[in-house]
Amino acid sequence: MSSEMVPEYAVSHGRPRSFYKRFERKQDLQHQTHFCPGCGHGQVHKMLARAIDELEIQNKTILVGPVGCGVFTYNYFDVGNVSAAHGRAPAVATGMKRSRPESIVIGYQGDGDLAAIGSAEILHAANRGENITIIFVNNAIYSMTGGQAAPTTLLGQKSATTPRGRSAANEGYPLHISELLATLEAPVYIERVGLGDNRQIMQAARAIKRAVENQVRGLGFSLIEVLSPCPTIFRMSPVEAQRWVREVMEKTFPLGVFCDRTGEAQPQPLAEPEPALDQIPRILDVASEGLPEGHPIALGKTAELDLRVRVAGSGGQGVLLLGEVLAEAGLDAGLEVSWLPSYGPEMRSGTSNCHVRLSREKIDSPLVMNPNLLVAMNEPSLRKFYKSVLPGGWILFNGESFPADCEQKNVQVLACPFTQAANELGNARAGNMVMMGALLEITGVLQEANINAALQRLAKNPRWMELNLRAIEKGGKLFRESRQAICG
Ligand code: SF4
Ligand SMILES: [Mg+2]
Repeated sequence: MSSEMVPEYAVSHGRPRSFYKRFERKQDLQHQTHFCPGCGHGQVHKMLARAIDELEIQNKTILVGPVGCGVFTYNYFDVGNVSAAHGRAPAVATGMKRSRPESIVIGYQGDGDLAAIGSAEILHAANRGENITIIFVNNAIYSMTGGQAAPTTLLGQKSATTPRGRSAANEGYPLHISELLATLEAPVYIERVGLGDNRQIMQAARAIKRAVENQVRGLGFSLIEVLSPCPTIFRMSPVEAQRWVREVMEKTFPLGVFCDRTGEAQPQPLAEPEPALDQIPRILDVASEGLPEGHPIALGKTAELDLRVRVAGSGGQGVLLLGEVLAEAGLDAGLEVSWLPSYGPEMRSGTSNCHVRLSREKIDSPLVMNPNLLVAMNEPSLRKFYKSVLPGGWILFNGESFPADCEQKNVQVLACPFTQAANELGNARAGNMVMMGALLEITGVLQEANINAALQRLAKNPRWMELNLRAIEKGGKLFRESRQAICG
C-alpha cells in the first residue's frame, strides 16, 4: 500500500523512537524485553516512550530507574539513564532536575521501591513540589524478589511473607500512595490508572503523557500510579492477571484523579544554572586573592581578624586536636570559630587534616581552601597544600629544613623539627603542641589562658596537660629564636 493509501485513522504499533533499536540485554533475543509475558511493565514502558516521542523531548529526558523488575530501564530507553539505589529515585531525580533544570526528569518505580523503602523520598519530593514526573507501577507485590508482601498488598492477599493472606492486625492496611500524596499542597497532578482492560490502558497512556507534559510546562510535581498485572507472581495467565487488576485490585485502589492543580499552577522559574567550577571558591569566599593590607597574620592583635588555618599530617600526630584546641580557645576568646575535620577511612596512619577559622565576623563557610597559615606536620602534607597558602601567609613545617622547591613567593616559612623538640621534652607526641606554640606567636590573637582552658577540656589527663604546656612554651621560644636568627 502506498503512503497516500494509508487511511488517516491507521494505528501504528511501531517501536517508539525513544526505545533502542535493539535491546542488547539478552544476546539472543534482542527484540524482547526481560519482562514476563503479560507483565504490565512492558506496557507502561511503551506508553512512556511514546509520550517522550510525542512531546519531542528524547534529547533532554533523564530517566531515573528503580530497583525491582523495572531495573533495566537503561537497556530499553534511548534517553539519559541513571540507576538509583532502592527507593531513592525521587531524591536522585530531585538532584538531577535541580542541577539540570532544562532536562525532563522522570522517576520510574515499583511499589516495593516507592511505597516501602522509598516512602520518605517520594513523600518529601512531592511535598517540595519538585518539578519531576514519577511513574509508579503498583502490582501489589514484591515481584523481582519472589513475591513478598508489599505495602500495597491487598488485605487477604497471599504472598511469600503472608501465606495466610495479609491481615490488617498483623501487616496493617494497604498503603494508598495517590490518596496520601494528594493531601499535600504542592503536587499538581496525581492520578491512578489501571491496565485492567483496553479502555483503562488508553486512559493510562493519556495520563502518563499528561504527567510528563506538566513537567515540560514547568508546572511541578506529577505522579501516575498504574495498577499493573504480574502474572508470574500472581500465578495466573496474562488474561486472568489483567482481570484480577480490573475486578479485585481496583476495589482497594479506585481509579481516578486525586489531585489536579494544573489549571492554576504557575510555571516554575528555571533554577539558576550551576556555577562553573572555577567560580565556586569565589562564591564560598575562599578565592585566592591575597590578604588585605594590615592582615593580622604576623601583625598581632589588630581589629580585623580572619585567621584561616589548615593543619595537615598523618593519623596519630594530633592534627585534629591541634585544630580543636585552637577553635575552643577562640570560642573562649569570644571569636567566631569553625573546625572541620577531614580524614581517611583508615583507623591508623591515614592522612588527616582539619580546617579552622577564627574571625570577629560571622563565618560564612568552614572550608579553608586557601589558608593564611598552613601547619604541615610532615612532608607529604606540605607538598599537598603549600601552593594553596595565600600571599602574605605562613607555613609551619615539621622538618629539618624547608624543601627549596616548595618555596612560595610572599609566603613566610618556619621549618623546624618540632616532633624532635617534643621528644626532648619527654614525648614526641606533643609535637603538635610545640607547633601550636609557634602558631600562637605568629598569630598573636589568643591568650595563654584561653589555650589552657581549652586544653583542660580537651586533653584531660594531667600528665599530658603539664607536657602540653611545656611544649607550647617551647614552640613559642623556637619561633622567637628563628626570628632573631633572621633579623640578626
Ligand atoms: S515478575 Fe511480575 S512484575 Fe516482574 S517481570 Fe514478571 S510479570 Fe513483570
Ligand atoms: Mg511490585
